[in-house]
Amino acid sequence: MAGNPFARLLEPLFARARARDLWRRREIRASPQAPVIQVGRETLLSFASNDYLGLANDPRVVEALCAGARRYGAGAGASHLLGGHTGAHHELEGALAAFTGAPRALLFSTGYMANLALLTTLCPRHGQVFEDRRNHASLLDAVALAQARRHRYRDIAGLRAALAASGPGGLVVSDGVFSMDGDMADVPALLALAKTKGAGLILDDAHAFGVMGPGGRGTPAAHGLDYDTALVRMGTLGKAFGVFGAFVAADADVIEALIQRARPYIYTTALPPAVAASAQAALDLVIAGDDRRATLFDNIRRFREGASALGLRLLPSPTPIQAVVFGDASRAITASGHLRNRGLYVPAIRPPTVPQGSARLRVALSAAHGADDVDRLLEALATSPEASA
Ligand SMILES: *Cc1c(COP(=O)(O)O)cnc(C)c1O
Repeated sequence: MAGNPFARLLEPLFARARARDLWRRREIRASPQAPVIQVGRETLLSFASNDYLGLANDPRVVEALCAGARRYGAGAGASHLLGGHTGAHHELEGALAAFTGAPRALLFSTGYMANLALLTTLCPRHGQVFEDRRNHASLLDAVALAQARRHRYRDIAGLRAALAASGPGGLVVSDGVFSMDGDMADVPALLALAKTKGAGLILDDAHAFGVMGPGGRGTPAAHGLDYDTALVRMGTLGKAFGVFGAFVAADADVIEALIQRARPYIYTTALPPAVAASAQAALDLVIAGDDRRATLFDNIRRFREGASALGLRLLPSPTPIQAVVFGDASRAITASGHLRNRGLYVPAIRPPTVPQGSARLRVALSAAHGADDVDRLLEALATSPEASA
């Protein structure tokens, strides 16, 4: 290692990850995202993707990508403010505003960047942010980048107490669907509490758009809420939409402020226009997707009933994200390996992604799964050596 300036830093990091069974590795997939995937020589039934409606490989979505590329070329070639913004982007923003019921929507290259943009634009330095402890890493990083004063809350009671102890204003920030546990935030309570202090609510609905609520319009809609000026929503196009990119749907002035000020919006290349065209096709399928959502919720019900009957430790979740908790990282890895030997791909999620002692299998269900796929998973779980311990 002599001569490598990074070794002193990296060796301890690697040693720690290896010792605690936290080593991460990538699979190399050779097929489209679908329930059945090809990984090397293995053919696997996958419960690992966020492609909840099976749109990632839908022929209409793929064709829209090709047609978009033929019309606009491969890349945007510039940022949105310097000539990268095309008709494909603009139309999609209009359609996303209509879909979400918000006055305006703005496209971002990724959800991660959209969250950085939101916090750094809507939170003044040293402003106060109230964040759920389980928020997605991109929101936590966004709060850090904004140099906010952070209050982390565990539940609604914790938020109420933190707000009561603070001055007016600020931001409440939450996932709509918690990405590792699968449960939904109590959006009406969050919004009502935020409003008592004149605070805004930033809701990251990455896992909810397309899936939860009437028409797949997200967690506020699932709770019967309409558009609200105090509510700013982020959604990604890389999950239920099956494509890539992200958007913010909000009050027109909030959107304008992002265009004027948000560095993760201004200083980056616009999403490829073909991707926007493809996302438009996906949005059309999301809107017309009641049958897909019905199939998805049948699969969710089937899995939960079957897993409960097996005595597995399931977290409460009405969403496609179903966590089977094993505790130790090594037990979750053993269970994942057991499934893998039976041709099933269900990743183990370990700390620090989830809290110590709550390592789990994260089962992600899709409308593209059949009932027989869910049954195959349940049968394999039933014979897992770790399942009943
Ligand atoms: C996936 C995800 C993101 C990031 O979205 P990308 O478009 O993949 O960058 C942000 N927040 C949550 C809750 C997510 O699950």
